[in-house]
Amino acid sequence: MSAPQLKSGKRVIVKIGSALLVDKERGTVRRAWLETLAVDLMTLRERGQEVLLVSSGAIAVGRRHLGLPARGRLKLEESQAAAAAGMVRLAHAYQEVLGAYGVTVAQVLLTLDDSENRRRYLNARNTIDQILRLGAVPLINENDTVATDEIRFGDNDRLAARVAAMVSADTLVLLSSSDGLYDSDPTHNPDARHVPVVKGAITPEIEAMAGAKMTDDGSGGMVTKLVAARMAVAAGCRMVIANGLEDHPLRRLEDGGRVTWFLPEASPLTARKQWISGSLKPDGAVVVDDGAVRALSQGKSLLPAGVVEVEGGFLRGDAVIVKNQAGDHLGRGLIAYSAADARRIMGAKSREIEAILGYRGRDEMIHRDDLVLD
Ligand code: GLU
Repeated sequence: MSAPQLKSGKRVIVKIGSALLVDKERGTVRRAWLETLAVDLMTLRERGQEVLLVSSGAIAVGRRHLGLPARGRLKLEESQAAAAAGMVRLAHAYQEVLGAYGVTVAQVLLTLDDSENRRRYLNARNTIDQILRLGAVPLINENDTVATDEIRFGDNDRLAARVAAMVSADTLVLLSSSDGLYDSDPTHNPDARHVPVVKGAITPEIEAMAGAKMTDDGSGGMVTKLVAARMAVAAGCRMVIANGLEDHPLRRLEDGGRVTWFLPEASPLTARKQWISGSLKPDGAVVVDDGAVRALSQGKSLLPAGVVEVEGGFLRGDAVIVKNQAGDHLGRGLIAYSAADARRIMGAKSREIEAILGYRGRDEMIHRDDLVLD
């Protein structure tokens, strides 16, 4: 099975582990390395690929500047303070190296809740989309300063996979100190074989391999990388684990460096639609007129103008059934307005939404990417 190319990714998330970004001894950003990463990121952007960064290293950088010990586990409140101090420096470093090419970096700090609570999830997704539309590079990290142990991801491998699902990215690159998966522990077994491609579901056999080969890399070892792979692949996003310690880590990946690719069966859009049609319990319904029925069957979005009735109580981002006026189910989708707001804008033109609601929401009641017809 041939390995895919990074080049073919449209929306690419690059996750950078602390071990790459931060000089452990000095607690400073490895600036020269970061500059080579920026060159590689610019290559992607010049090809028209969208680039998002998920970066670790806030705690590793911040602890030194607060006079906390360079090594060893910190207390929760110490890591929260370290993250607060470190994130400023991280963001500054990324802005400097990308700013040299005229690129703006936009910091997004997320908590687990932002990826689980549907409303906050939608907010985060819309913000990140907007940052990309405006041509900037989102720089994403966990909001460690407000996250306590119970509500933390704790590792950016899973955070990056969650973000990949959230923004329908098609490619996730995990840059760490590991070059991927082996079928047994290569430090003990000279015959251990590297696994270049894993296709489809992460099976128990694959999981057993992860137990065997671990590089110590920040918070996430191979086990969390596999959890991330499972999340990414389920969202239709391919994921690659690559060793990023050397300069120009993405160029090396493209030049055929040793990596492990995890390949999904479905595209991000198909996976998203499967999720909408399969796993979500509808919280209400919208009844649409004949014009809207025709528009939907041509693959268009559902606009408020086509809605004649709103049934049930739901929040923005909830799943609802779409029905015609005879009561037949046409499909289901994620609605961009709460039931109360949907009732107020039904029948109205999209440009009237702001005057009616007092804020400017989406033009669509249900966007076509969020809609699955039966
Ligand atoms: N969010 C943590 C930080 O910026 C890193 C988590 C990880 O190591 O993956 O320090």
